[in-house]
Amino acid sequence: MTARSGRRPGGPLAGLLAALVLASGCVVGGVNEGAPQQPLPRSTRQPSSPQGEQTRADGTTSVAEFQEDMAVAVDKAEIYWTAQFRASGRRFQPVRRVVPYQREGEVSCAGQALPRNNAVYCSAGDFIAYDVRWSVAAFRQVGDAFLYYLLGHEYAHGIQVRLGIRAQFTIQQELQADCMAGAYIGGSIEAGQLRLEDGDLDEFREGLLAVGDDPDQPWFAEGAHGTAEQRTDHFFRGYEQGLAACNLG
Ligand SMILES: [Zn+2]
Repeated sequence: MTARSGRRPGGPLAGLLAALVLASGCVVGGVNEGAPQQPLPRSTRQPSSPQGEQTRADGTTSVAEFQEDMAVAVDKAEIYWTAQFRASGRRFQPVRRVVPYQREGEVSCAGQALPRNNAVYCSAGDFIAYDVRWSVAAFRQVGDAFLYYLLGHEYAHGIQVRLGIRAQFTIQQELQADCMAGAYIGGSIEAGQLRLEDGDLDEFREGLLAVGDDPDQPWFAEGAHGTAEQRTDHFFRGYEQGLAACNLG
């Protein structure tokens, strides 16, 4: 995935991300994602390019590049949501900040220290924070498309707050955020803001597979985000059909 000016080709997948296990939620309005605990066995499916196990065709996946891509993802999210709000006659206030962190406790949400291996939208401060090492590891394992999904999902939580959406169950809130992330990415591609590259769709599928809940997780659990199948389904609904598919009300 690149900005339209596109300088880098995307790459095939190296393997699956570890299952993301939900960390404890931030008490006052934080929305935590989860953490890959350990690497999963490599995917058995054939790499889709001769580069084999390299995640990125150019083999460079530096933190600087990651942060550059992240800045693009944030920029495109602002453009996308500004247009959506404008279309419904509202003014859009972008999420205030997107903050990388490296250590536990370096960033807090409503007085709660954010743990390692996580990405979160903190409604108390209206910011997104992410463990940069964890995110870069996911970026390297899954590919750059994952970063757009991750940012798109967290950004969607900020949009839910702006729209006053509070679902009864966490899972509804989470699956809607997946749908909205899909709508942001699909809509940005349609608007010519982002360009899809070879392998990106597979990267979304692999990434969503990795962030699915453990099958033992009850759907009504406080931390439930949805199974891999549900998350994939909601993401692609938004991706293909746009926001109308996301039940924003
Ligand atoms: Zn979420």
